[in-house]
Amino acid sequence: MSETIFTRIIKGQIPSHRVYEDEKVFAFLDIAPLSPGHTLVVPKEPAATLDVLSEESAAAVGRVLPRIARAVMAATGTRDYNVLQNNGAAAHQAVPHVHFHVIPRPDDARGLGVGWPSGRLEADAGKRMAAAVVAELAKG
Ligand code: 5GP
Repeated sequence: MSETIFTRIIKGQIPSHRVYEDEKVFAFLDIAPLSPGHTLVVPKEPAATLDVLSEESAAAVGRVLPRIARAVMAATGTRDYNVLQNNGAAAHQAVPHVHFHVIPRPDDARGLGVGWPSGRLEADAGKRMAAAVVAELAKG
């Protein structure tokens, strides 16, 4: 896989406002924030999407996300926030290197605006879908 801009940021080849780093995780301020404090939490492993990220890297990110979220909210004086993780161009992923956005929502005008075109889960369709997912999970 070709190197993304995030790998170059992690290596220090491109400057960033780093807020956290450990052996497996790097976090820095988004260059085009939706609100002050908008932070990207990135596994150092250059997986393109979440479904191909190793369990070790996923665990490392999961371990530190709450702490980074607390720090960002405390630093910005914000209580509400979104954690967003896009996979694939159609799902709004611009950089093909897994990353979690931590986006403070200080008020209605700043932060993540979410479209939520919800449907209705019918009983039969739900049963079939749950069975299909369970079958996939059983494959390991
Ligand atoms: P995506 O749409 O892939 O989930 O989000 C990618 C994010 O990376 C965007 O919010 C964008 O502003 C941010 N980004 C892209 N290039 C750079 C960069 O060079 N530096 C920083 N700090 N953020 C970047």
